[in-house]
Amino acid sequence: MKLVHIKQIKGSRSLYGTFLYITLLPLSLFGIVLMIYSSITLTRNIQTEVSDNLRNVGVTVLAAYDVSYDGDYNVMIVDGNVEFYKGDTFLSNDSTLLDNIKADTDVEISMFFYDTRVLTTISDKDGNRFVNTGANATILNTVVGSRTSRFYNNVYIGNGKYFAYYMPIMSKDGLTCLGMIGTATPAQGVAAMVRSSVIRNILIMLIALLITAWAIMHFSSGIISIIKKIMKFLSEIASGDLSTELDPVVISRSDELGEMGRLTNKLRSSLRKLIERDALTGIYNRRYGGKKLEDLINKGIPYSVAIGDIDFFKKFNDKYGHDCGDAVLIEVAKTLSEHMRSYGFAARWGGEEFLMVFENISGMSATVACEKILDAVRERLVEHDGQFHSVTMSFGVAQGRPELTLDENVNNADARLYEAKEGGRNQVIGE
Ligand code: GH3
Ligand code: MG
Ligand code: MG
Repeated sequence: MKLVHIKQIKGSRSLYGTFLYITLLPLSLFGIVLMIYSSITLTRNIQTEVSDNLRNVGVTVLAAYDVSYDGDYNVMIVDGNVEFYKGDTFLSNDSTLLDNIKADTDVEISMFFYDTRVLTTISDKDGNRFVNTGANATILNTVVGSRTSRFYNNVYIGNGKYFAYYMPIMSKDGLTCLGMIGTATPAQGVAAMVRSSVIRNILIMLIALLITAWAIMHFSSGIISIIKKIMKFLSEIASGDLSTELDPVVISRSDELGEMGRLTNKLRSSLRKLIERDALTGIYNRRYGGKKLEDLINKGIPYSVAIGDIDFFKKFNDKYGHDCGDAVLIEVAKTLSEHMRSYGFAARWGGEEFLMVFENISGMSATVACEKILDAVRERLVEHDGQFHSVTMSFGVAQGRPELTLDENVNNADARLYEAKEGGRNQVIGE
């Protein structure tokens, strides 16, 4: 038997390659875009949160001062020193309120009178507060100049980089801007928070992406393995092996692939029927009957053969038409194959001739069996066009002799059939 090899298709030309290409590529791109977008959004949200928090602290500080001390902020220069007041209360060097709020919120606070930092929680490494220092000109311009609050994410105070929020301080009558309040938190802390959030976010997305990719690959390879099973089955059929079986895993599927498998199986059955069966009677044809007998002989199984021929068959054709002849052939084939089921098998050997093979049965027993089968043929009237016809047959039986060829053994049965015909038909001549 010539084996048809399944072409191995690999790489991007394979179905699996295409599957992965059309799913994993867009998925990866989508994942990367999503990761970048969400990281940016996350960073922005954290900065907004920091900004809101800083503004709230600033508002709290101003409210606390207003509750505690009446009047507007003011300064007096005494002996060249800047003295800071709110109403009549002298505030210079008294950072208690700011320190308390810093202790609660962990936010650095500075108060500016116009451009001068008059109170602050920020000190250098020797513990000296950064008071009486100037404010950043740009910030001063924006906040005091334009009287607007503003968030900055890169302000240097001393040597440290800060995220800072500045708000103008207005006089009680709301007409004059007296300075500003700045609240700040070290940029390092915010950056660490952003970093850990972004990394966590990316990790979660990566895990989700990997799980999705794994699911796609698993699903694809499952489908490919089913397709390969169908391909293997088809290649075996193409090689001429019609007794091959399709993996039940394919047939049990309820999807299109399962249907494809079932159709392929039906194709195999149809092909098998076409090759093995006689089209008119449905029993084995001569080629397949001969092959089956050959297999039996090759396996060394003892056997007997009989050739049966319908008596005066031509008469059915000539007298009642070809269709009537066909009906007789069909009925006789049915009777023979039904009875032969328990002995071996029957095949249509020629026009109205049948081969019968008896497995593990002696010539004498096969002769007795043929007598019974002949009785059954005689009893089974064939109905055609409302008329019933009785049929008789003649049989020649021979026990298979191992020293003879298949053809010689069949010829022995044939010779006895001839004797049966010569001797008056409607009889069995055997061992
Ligand atoms: P005998 O008793 O000597 O066997 O005579 P017979 O008439 O049965 O044998 P014969 O060989 O003279 O005729 C057989 C006929 O069977 C000839 C052929 O036209 C016919 N025949 C062969 N195949 C078919 C078939 O498939 N259908 C029909 N209707 N007739 C067929
Ligand atoms: Mg005949
Ligand atoms: Mg004949």
